[in-house]
Amino acid sequence: MTEFNAKALANPGIRTLSPYQAGKPIEEVERELGIKNIVKLASNENPLGLSAKVKGALQDALSGLARYPDANGFYLKTKLAEKFGVHTNQITLGNGSNDVLELLARTFVNETHEVIFAQHAFVVYPLVTQAIGAKGVAVPAKNYGHDLPAMLAAITPKTRMIFIANPNNPTGTFLTKEELAEFIAQVPQNVLVVLDEAYYEYVSEAERAPSVEWIAQYPNLIVSRTFSKAYGLAGLRAGYVITHPDIADLMNRVRQPFNMNSLSLRAAEVVLDDQEYLAESIRVNADGMAQLVQFCEQSGLNYIPSHGNFLTIEVGSEAAEIYQQLLRAGVIVRPVAGYQLPNHLRVSIGLPAENQAFIDAMANLLK
Ligand SMILES: *Cc1c(COP(=O)(O)O)cnc(C)c1O
Repeated sequence: MTEFNAKALANPGIRTLSPYQAGKPIEEVERELGIKNIVKLASNENPLGLSAKVKGALQDALSGLARYPDANGFYLKTKLAEKFGVHTNQITLGNGSNDVLELLARTFVNETHEVIFAQHAFVVYPLVTQAIGAKGVAVPAKNYGHDLPAMLAAITPKTRMIFIANPNNPTGTFLTKEELAEFIAQVPQNVLVVLDEAYYEYVSEAERAPSVEWIAQYPNLIVSRTFSKAYGLAGLRAGYVITHPDIADLMNRVRQPFNMNSLSLRAAEVVLDDQEYLAESIRVNADGMAQLVQFCEQSGLNYIPSHGNFLTIEVGSEAAEIYQQLLRAGVIVRPVAGYQLPNHLRVSIGLPAENQAFIDAMANLLK
């Protein structure tokens, strides 16, 4: 191809950006290694598969696909607003919560700003920050999780946004509602706090922070949720943020008009009412977590206690090699060296037999 320096034309932050590393797809491992019956525990997906009710609704929705989606997601926003006791003008929908996280950064952050996140926090935060050309400030972790006092201390006049994942991915660490409440009360109002609760549904009701209620008192608080995990819609892409109405108004000007498609809108509406599916997701996750934790304890493997739908296990300096060997045994997990955790592997909770496949393969390697 003709020599052409596209990089020189790109925005400065984008020139040195590393692409997001997704979990390895099953088909890719099949293709590359020529093996079948692969178990994927690499992307924190819901092992139950799609809710049966959603499947039926999607069949019915197919006939409408020649039309554009509802650009305002009226029915889904109405349902969410009812569920969380907010007004529909406080909700912004997205093509997965990644979309709204990026939208937030583009709406509020520019290259003169600083954005704070924790070491080992979800990689999308540094990614969107760098893409804009803003300065990312990674605050060293405390016990693998967020060090909130240190994050407060990192705020400067240039700080515009703070990302907090609770529970955090890839560590599964969790901040109590008391810790969060104390933190938010001390953040100045001109600094936006994005509380990413992608794993909210897996947290016990007693432990969940009343984060949406806090927005009335702290208009700079943004609560992000997703349908990708406990609701099992990762492939459809559906997420949202709940915010002060003025934040939603601004995001609405920037977003793509059809950033949720007709199928994902319909699926999200339906699964939100599927209490049985959600309960089953939570139950299967708790059982699978116990299964993996028990294996770690019995095998003397350290792990980071997790509040999510995954467990991050310390396997030692050969983590990259163990990852490859697990692949060859037909089990895909997630290396997390890119999160400054070179000795760990993140294992998503699967169905009992899938967890067992990981346990068997791992036990074999430990021999
Ligand atoms: C999985 C995950 C999300 C959700 O991403 P989607 O774009 O909604 O699929 C968001 N934040 C964190 C921390 C996650 O782990």
